[in-house]
Amino acid sequence: MNFASILEQSVECTCGRTHSVQIDTVEIDAGALKKVPTILKRDGYMRPFLIADQKTYEVAGKQLVTYLEEEGINYSVFVYEDQELIPNEQAVGKLLLNFNTECDVVIGIGSGTINDLSRFFSHQVGLRYYIVATAPSMDGYASTVAPLIRNSLKTTFECQMPQAIIGDLEVISRAPKDMIAAGFGDVIGKYTCLADWKLSALINGEYYCETAARMTLDSLQRTIDLKEGISNGDYEAIGELMEALVLAGIAMSYVGNSRPASGSEHHLSHFWEMRFIFEGKNPVLHGTKVGIATVLVARLYQYLKEEGLDAVAIEKITRPNMDDWKDEMNRVFLGAASEVISLEERVGKNAASGHQARIAAMAKNWRDIEAVLNTVPEPQVIISLLKSVQAPVFASQVGISEELIQEAILYAKEIRPRYTILQLLWDLDVLPAYATRIVKECDN
Ligand SMILES: [Zn+2]
Ligand SMILES: [Zn+2]
Repeated sequence: MNFASILEQSVECTCGRTHSVQIDTVEIDAGALKKVPTILKRDGYMRPFLIADQKTYEVAGKQLVTYLEEEGINYSVFVYEDQELIPNEQAVGKLLLNFNTECDVVIGIGSGTINDLSRFFSHQVGLRYYIVATAPSMDGYASTVAPLIRNSLKTTFECQMPQAIIGDLEVISRAPKDMIAAGFGDVIGKYTCLADWKLSALINGEYYCETAARMTLDSLQRTIDLKEGISNGDYEAIGELMEALVLAGIAMSYVGNSRPASGSEHHLSHFWEMRFIFEGKNPVLHGTKVGIATVLVARLYQYLKEEGLDAVAIEKITRPNMDDWKDEMNRVFLGAASEVISLEERVGKNAASGHQARIAAMAKNWRDIEAVLNTVPEPQVIISLLKSVQAPVFASQVGISEELIQEAILYAKEIRPRYTILQLLWDLDVLPAYATRIVKECDN
């Protein structure tokens, strides 16, 4: 795929904005790693600061260092020794403590966590960064945001795009199979996130861009078309998956937030991630959780389609009871509860006035809303897509209990002030009933 045309053009869009991407180079091919010294020189950098963990240093860092040395480029390097790297205060602190202030650019070598840390850290120290991808495992490479954990709560920080994305096929096609399947799961989640976004546009008048949504949808379709090759570890297909992941990231940068790539399925994933950290359990790959969550969210969409609501019924709906809300937050979010409560105090997601306005908007636009519900495939379709790349489809396969399914459906919407099907079901006062039903029916 020719990224150059996308990267160079600024697009006068029908949404009324002009879109552009702050990425200079996307290099996805065999031998891309070897080109890094040339790219550095072209961009005018003398001394990169390399960030890796032990595994990513082994699969790509070591080789990169050799290429840098061959070209006489000085560098500094920090390799995390953590067994399970968590992107929190401690991880950011380690970078700060080991940073060489003579460095003029940051190069992250890794995938999800290293990418987030490199993006955040480089932004904080006022430098650009490159990401050398080690797996096609998630679509955050071309994103502007870094989800990190602060005060135990997953929080999204607005940062910057990488200046260069390097995906050497020799490296990424050898990534572990579960990481490749996770990348596929992250892309499958676009079905529900795009529907969530459109719902919010209809109900809240939230900004919506057809071009960005189309870009994400195209990369979704492209990935589905390649499922066999991806499953077989086909060299080219995995390169294409990586491209699709980058493209979804570019769609996010077009709109300046993660709407085109992240909705309720991501909120469920973030919720489980937080609880796993609290409980000291081993983390599950982001895209794996997103895939599983997409099956559940598709069920919620299906339930709502079956509900058979109409404008008259909707207008009669009153706001769910909030009496025990704070107690519930304390019980469910543990150490992150105070952050969740203060978020609600700031933004009032559940406030009576907003609820009333949304109910009125839903009654008015119900037909259009029903059309959006129909864009989400049946859960069975999502399940067979995930199975085609041997990705887990049920929460129990990765140690997520029925209780955690139910709690995520009920409470994950409190993590972010972003309108999705979860908040919509709360608005309609059906969320608790659906959460109970899903646990009974999801075969988990
Ligand atoms: Zn994702
Ligand atoms: Zn647009």
